[in-house]
Amino acid sequence: MVAIVLDEKISDLYAQVVARNPGEAEFHQAVREVFDSLGPVLAKHPHYADAGIIKRLTEPERQIIFRVPVDDQGQVQINRGFRVEFNSALGPYKGGLRFHPSVYLGVVKFLGFEQIFKNALTGLPIGGGKGGADFDPKGRSDAEIMRFCQSFMTELYRHIGEYTDVPAGDTGVGGREIGYLFGQYKRITNRYESGVLTGKGLAWGGSQVRTEATGYGVVFFVREMLAAAGDDLDGKTVVVSGSGNVAIYAIEKVQQLGGRVIACSDSGGYVVDDAGIDLELLKEIKNVRRGRISDYADARRGSARHVDTGSMWSVPTDIAIPCATQNELNGVDATQLAKNGCRIVAEGANMPSTPEAVRIFADAGVGFAPGKAANAGGVATSALEMQQNASRDSWTFAHTEDRLSEIMTAIHDHCLHTADEYGAPGNYATGANIAAFTRVADAMLALGLI
Ligand code: NDP
Repeated sequence: MVAIVLDEKISDLYAQVVARNPGEAEFHQAVREVFDSLGPVLAKHPHYADAGIIKRLTEPERQIIFRVPVDDQGQVQINRGFRVEFNSALGPYKGGLRFHPSVYLGVVKFLGFEQIFKNALTGLPIGGGKGGADFDPKGRSDAEIMRFCQSFMTELYRHIGEYTDVPAGDTGVGGREIGYLFGQYKRITNRYESGVLTGKGLAWGGSQVRTEATGYGVVFFVREMLAAAGDDLDGKTVVVSGSGNVAIYAIEKVQQLGGRVIACSDSGGYVVDDAGIDLELLKEIKNVRRGRISDYADARRGSARHVDTGSMWSVPTDIAIPCATQNELNGVDATQLAKNGCRIVAEGANMPSTPEAVRIFADAGVGFAPGKAANAGGVATSALEMQQNASRDSWTFAHTEDRLSEIMTAIHDHCLHTADEYGAPGNYATGANIAAFTRVADAMLALGLI
């Protein structure tokens, strides 16, 4: 009886979120996904609801929207910039910047909301935030990218700082963009404040393993899921979507641990390489030439083919690691993966699986690792970068990778134990949501009504 009343309470709260944030479908979806796990927590600890924790959690502490003007050889171009500072109960706001034409407030809020929970799972002292712009970096020259980053930072700088808000990269924002952003911050403030941004280059305050961290981390999580079932990656086939930062380093770690990645993609289609993805070639095409995935198939005519229609999730595989974007894997894809014998789906991207896909995985007994747990290695290593900046130190690759590996193992175990404790054995999504929620909620309670 108690549980039913509380579930109704959560439904009411969800209806309020939808009404207060109209038209922000991705944000609603992310909130819904967390709320669906909270029934057992509120039944056990009603004081969280009494203190209004859930209402407060879904309302960002601060939302900044700003104009980003650029004069491109006489042509004025205006974009919209965002920074949503969602929750700082555990530490300074922390989360990446996304440059992509699909960016609007609903996307930034979904990412910022997820980030609160992801950051809590790392066990490190970081709050949640996210930002970006509806800017399309594709096909732009280095000089155009630099001018955009400088204009973006000319407004953003006043809102960030190593103890306030620490942005990093995300889709469309890699090492090159972080360099231009950091340069402009340094110029405006006249401070070499390394801890204000993460994902920096190694020569100017960056951390070993940050570039690789999200992709490596998701594969460490898969390693732990397999180990919990007495298995390992050796000889397993893996399909990875995307061919950006997360995808490339997920592929690298799968290969190092003995798995075989047979497909990857970009927004123009996917490639299947029966001989296994040639990672050096992929890196050359994507990171150096900034080319398309179809170029990969052209260069590997003997073993690879490019497919520009249909879904890559129809390729039979043991393990699927979606690393491209939100809602890229739907119910039809999930059914197909399960039918073809896929045993594990681990999210490298943020919310790549639709709610229907997640339900299908659960029903079919496919192990499912949600992004907020499985891709937390990126932000965890960002926090390690902040630690190194604060102590004017820099760690070796091996030491930093060991720390990342330990953090991913700890997140995995915490999710699994929490799922057990709350009556959902093996359900990583429930375990992740509850473990993260209780950590943030306890800190919010301790800090009072602010
Ligand atoms: P990148 O920009 O480096 O790469 C994104 C990749 O996904 C590209 O290959 C891109 O192809 C592809 N892609 C983007 N949109 C679509 C689409 N609609 N359909 C098909 N393919 C698409 O981004 P990241 O690798 O950094 O990020 C990928 C995901 O991982 C995002 O969800 C991000 O939020 C998440 N993430 C990233 C972290 C990080 O440390 N970078 C940390 C945690 C999560 P194309 O080039 O054609 O657009």
